Amino acid sequence: MRKNIVAGNWKMNTTVPEGVQLAKDVCMAVAQTPGIKCQVILGVPFTHLTAVNQVIDKNYVMLAAENCADHDKGAYTGEVSAAMVASTGADFVILGHSERRGYYNETIDMLKTKVDLALEAGLKVIFCCGESLDERKAGTHFEVIKNEIVGSLFHLSADQMANVVIAYEPIWAIGTGETATSDQAQEIHAFIRSLLCEKYGQQVADDTTILYGGSCKPGNAPELFAKSDIDGGLIGGASLKCADFMGIVTAF
Ligand code: PEP
Repeated sequence: MRKNIVAGNWKMNTTVPEGVQLAKDVCMAVAQTPGIKCQVILGVPFTHLTAVNQVIDKNYVMLAAENCADHDKGAYTGEVSAAMVASTGADFVILGHSERRGYYNETIDMLKTKVDLALEAGLKVIFCCGESLDERKAGTHFEVIKNEIVGSLFHLSADQMANVVIAYEPIWAIGTGETATSDQAQEIHAFIRSLLCEKYGQQVADDTTILYGGSCKPGNAPELFAKSDIDGGLIGGASLKCADFMGIVTAF
């Protein structure tokens, strides 16, 4: 059966010492809180991966990068390959975040390549998808999400899908303070699960973790996580304060 997950996405925040301290605080809080019902993951900048890996206990907290390159190695100055990410001790990589799609022109095809390289390197993938406000207003959100998932993931085998977590992140809810209602999120999560069922069958659909992301906070997480197809959250702003993040981790 699928796992509940709460994953932080620190984005371009914290220096290395600050990040190490935050990771230590989260790891200790998770270790000291009995009855946590989810896998906790910290998504941190490339520069932080090795240092954070050294201070977390994988019994409590796993580690994710926020991106990887769409080439395996070579003359790509400034890029970081999936194999390099894996060599830091990271377990996951977040791919397809709307900030990367929007600001760095990441396309569906490029993300397909990144997914392949990440899985080949032994990383698990947290694959983000979601519509803009204009797309939702135009009623094309289902189509947009379907295209992103089909285009970048549906070449994978059922076995490979076991290493993929999907995060639904409506762009209009990211960092805006505006959350999708739990019913809006559930509707999309159920739709994503139906796509998985059509392509891979009921077992894969039931086993795939689907996270919600977009202004998720301790105050709204319990209602979101209570929905049958919402298996946790990808958390931006609220993952930067240990107490807020723990308020979400304990929301199940
Ligand atoms: C995100 O960037 O993945 C995210 C969900 O951000 P926030 O929680 O700040 O809306």
